[in-house]
Amino acid sequence: EALQTLVETEPRAKKSVAKFSKPRSLFRSFGMLLAEQKRNWLYYFIMLISAMGAGSSSALQAYLFARLFTGFAYWGEYLRTSTNFLCLMLLVVAAGIGLSYFALGWASNTVSVRTTTIYRKEYFRNIISKRISFFDGEESSIGMLTARLATDPTQLQQLLGINMAMVFISVFNVVACVTISFYFGWKFALVVICASMPIILASGYYRVRYEVEFEARNNQVFAESAKFATEAIRATRTVASLTLEDTICSRYQKLLQDHIKKSFQAARFSSLVFAASDSMVLLCMAFALWYGGRLMASYEYYPFNFFIIYIAIIQGSMAAGQWLSFGPNIAQVSAAANRIQSMRSKEHDHDIINSSSIITEFEENPVPGAVPPYKGADIELKNIWFQYPTRDTPVLQDLSISIQHGQFAAIVGPSGSGKTTIISLLERFYEPQEGSILYNSLEIKSFPLHQYRKSLSLVAQEPYLFRGTIRDNVLLGADAATTTEDVLHQACRDAGIHAFITSLPEGYDTDVGTGGVALSGGQKQRISIARALIRDPAVLLLDEATSSLDSETEKEVQEVFEQTGKGRTMIVVAHRLATVQKADVIFVMRDGRVVETGNHGRLLRARGVYWQMCQAQTLSVP
Ligand code: ADP
Ligand code: MG
Repeated sequence: EALQTLVETEPRAKKSVAKFSKPRSLFRSFGMLLAEQKRNWLYYFIMLISAMGAGSSSALQAYLFARLFTGFAYWGEYLRTSTNFLCLMLLVVAAGIGLSYFALGWASNTVSVRTTTIYRKEYFRNIISKRISFFDGEESSIGMLTARLATDPTQLQQLLGINMAMVFISVFNVVACVTISFYFGWKFALVVICASMPIILASGYYRVRYEVEFEARNNQVFAESAKFATEAIRATRTVASLTLEDTICSRYQKLLQDHIKKSFQAARFSSLVFAASDSMVLLCMAFALWYGGRLMASYEYYPFNFFIIYIAIIQGSMAAGQWLSFGPNIAQVSAAANRIQSMRSKEHDHDIINSSSIITEFEENPVPGAVPPYKGADIELKNIWFQYPTRDTPVLQDLSISIQHGQFAAIVGPSGSGKTTIISLLERFYEPQEGSILYNSLEIKSFPLHQYRKSLSLVAQEPYLFRGTIRDNVLLGADAATTTEDVLHQACRDAGIHAFITSLPEGYDTDVGTGGVALSGGQKQRISIARALIRDPAVLLLDEATSSLDSETEKEVQEVFEQTGKGRTMIVVAHRLATVQKADVIFVMRDGRVVETGNHGRLLRARGVYWQMCQAQTLSVP
């Protein structure tokens, strides 16, 4: 609830549209993510307590060691008993530290796993429910988005997990050591703290930091060449057919060489830091010993006081520096936090953890009670102007199309004339800049988006099959739980693929491979047609859906469409004109405009563009 109120008081309703390109301030993103951690307070409390225990134990250690060392000045029974006692105490401290670290590790791990899982889930949901136009953008390439899905939540983990705990420990350690040192001798403590603590802290910090960063940079350097290699390997067919092997190899080699050079440079620098930090620490130790010796020589300090301060400050700050270096890389984490925030669409902000349904970013103006029809619909595009957000020139110019309930309509025209674009607008993948799209005389915007899309079935130009079996893929179109085997088979029969499926040794349980690689283009198309038919849609959209079929099969599928198309509105985009001869109405497109309208017979008689196209395809032209 705390989270909800936090989010609801944020006055940023409208800004969310341009969000991705306009990052909000790093600080704010950071703060918001931290605020969301409120629900993990118990774990943070445990972390704090155990960090306090682990951190301050170094002061206790300093005390015990000082007692031990000064005890060595005595002989005999006294030394034995005091050593026994002190070592036992050290054991107790060791057990305490072990326990603290265990609790710390457990709590921080829980926090980070919980958090990254939630963010990953949310991030994924956000990506998957973006508008289609989002994916046309440069900054949202598929590779980039998947990489971010993997890395951004992990970087956040740095901030919330063990790395943060290390910073806690380090701070408590310094406080405890400084306190105990002042207690046992302020003068020596002050001089040693001022003269050496910053240096030792910093050297401990940089030592580890550079090692870690060197490792990271090294990995990154090789990741680049690895990415290149992955791409090349994925495209082996293209590489082979263009005989690009030598070019690719030499480019890869060059990448590797660049990277090796860079990583050598980094190595030189980090060894330098490493060496310098080591000698600096020794220098500080020597100074402390020298000054402590002077103080003891003039009887100002007992050896016990000297030891305790020396150990607390020198050892304490060395350890603190190293712990500190495991702290989060704030710059990196902020950038990740910012990206996570910028991916959030406004609806999701309200319910990050619990929302179970996907809500898209679309503006909706639902008209109360507007429900898409179950069977057939009148569709009308009125004076549509449209251009893709990433382009400057309009693709559709003042386009008007009217299709009646139950009609079989066809859109034909040269490639690039805007046929697929019309289908995308009908699916509401994009919004036209001007004009309106009416569905049974209602603007399509007046239906809830998901309900509206459910009344349509689209078989796209490049059908995509998901990893899994043929059955899984067809059933994606329907409610898998209630669909009977008969319905499934009928849909596949209608799509002309049932016979093929049953001829496979595993039948409907055959795996299609990732993206359907194990099937031919025509087989994939027919499976996706079955997937569309099983939905029993009001409107069937086919975008060159039969183009990879041979003309025999295409004719069969065509007949099925004529059967199943009864009572539905069907819009077929086709390249092969034979496919659309029986259409009730044919729209001939050229350069984003409809140039001719009518049925096959009328268009032929008009002897216009359509007639020319038919002649080019050597159809029987009277
Ligand atoms: P058709 O389906 O008739 O072959 P399209 O509707 O796919 O034609 O494309 C029409 C025009 O729009 C083409 O010039 C194409 O380059 C452009 N186009 C298509 N999709 C996009 C997109 N996602 N972003 C930008 N331009 C696009
Ligand atoms: Mg197309």
